[in-house]
Amino acid sequence: MRKGKFIKVRRWGRIYFFGIVSKSDNFKQQFYGVLVSLINELIVSFVQLLPKSIVKKFSNRYIAGDSLQDAVYVVRELNKKGIYATVDVLGEAISTNEEATASKQACSDVLDAIRKLQLKANLSIKPTQMGLKLDEQFCYEQVLSLVEKSKAMHSFVRLDMEDSSCTDATFRLLKKLRETHDNCGVVVQAYMRRTLSDVIALNALKPNIRLCKGIYIEPVSIAFKGKEEVRKNYLEVLKWMFENKNYVGIATHDSFLIDEAIKLIDALKIPRDAFEFQMLLGVREDLRDYLAESGYKVRVYVPFGKDWYLYSIRRLKENPNIAGQIVKNLFTRNR
Ligand SMILES: Cc1cc2nc3c(=O)[nH]c(=O)nc-3n(C[C@H](O)[C@H](O)[C@H](O)COP(=O)(O)OP(=O)(O)OC[C@H]3O[C@@H](n4cnc5c(N)ncnc54)[C@H](O)[C@@H]3O)c2cc1C
Repeated sequence: MRKGKFIKVRRWGRIYFFGIVSKSDNFKQQFYGVLVSLINELIVSFVQLLPKSIVKKFSNRYIAGDSLQDAVYVVRELNKKGIYATVDVLGEAISTNEEATASKQACSDVLDAIRKLQLKANLSIKPTQMGLKLDEQFCYEQVLSLVEKSKAMHSFVRLDMEDSSCTDATFRLLKKLRETHDNCGVVVQAYMRRTLSDVIALNALKPNIRLCKGIYIEPVSIAFKGKEEVRKNYLEVLKWMFENKNYVGIATHDSFLIDEAIKLIDALKIPRDAFEFQMLLGVREDLRDYLAESGYKVRVYVPFGKDWYLYSIRRLKENPNIAGQIVKNLFTRNR
């Protein structure tokens, strides 16, 4: 289509309408794009209202399955491609010591599988699942037993970072664990305004830190909200960690951040064994495989278990194409 301004009759399904076309012929795409992003926002706002069966269907790609066997299968497939894994037993909403102990047992079973099957994998845990909000000392003892077990098999335990009500307690837990064990690390979230000072405070531990953007909804008083602000903080924190020789798990699917991270790695001559890229199962597999094939160490977060619901809701809310997929499904499922 030539550039310029003229009237054109357009057909949208069975509806004909007139429109002014200017500059280029991307009107239809733009209109469709706006429509999809509006539907997207609407679906994201109401995603909790979707029937569980729909949530399950669309979140299958993010979860290895219900059982440890399912997780083992996925980890093996990743390992075949030279990609490492970190396994997460799904579940965060526990309210008794017994439930926390059962969660710890499930994590211990993961470690047994990693050892027996020689999987290239470690463990990620949610501190609240281990009882952080019930009793910090009890939680410490639970996590310590996992860290000790993983130490004996030369593996590693990552403390995921949850919402801001857990941040201080999670750092306390890490510091106590690191007094005796170096095979454990934590996560920091670039959307938190406090993160650079947290990383500076952790530096004395020579830590191993996963840097992510952050997923929980936090007030603007403590968290950056704008996409660019979060990116800027991400890169500032990353640069600081590289310069201070922290081992970093660069956990993002954001191509811009990955490009910038690689520029930093090259400019600062960061050795390949001082960092790894980390991604979530089912997200940007193209980019993940590309990084692995380019010789970077890549680790995938592999969640499994029957408590898939909350994790799935968080992933669906982040999927920029969720509206498109759900709408497509509505129109194709009976054919
Ligand atoms: C290994 C790992 C561990 C994590 N651990 C934690 C943690 O402990 N605590 C915490 O708060 N957060 C954690 N997160 C989540 C993180 O904070 C972000 O919410 C999440 O990674 C999305 O941010 P992004 O950097 O990928 O950027 P985004 O801007 O959200 O995404 C970049 C691009 O990735 C793709 N994408 C992202 N999400 C999806 C999706 N669900 N479906 C399809 N495509 C998608 C899209 O193409 C999107 O444009 C973790 C993330 C990773 C990768």
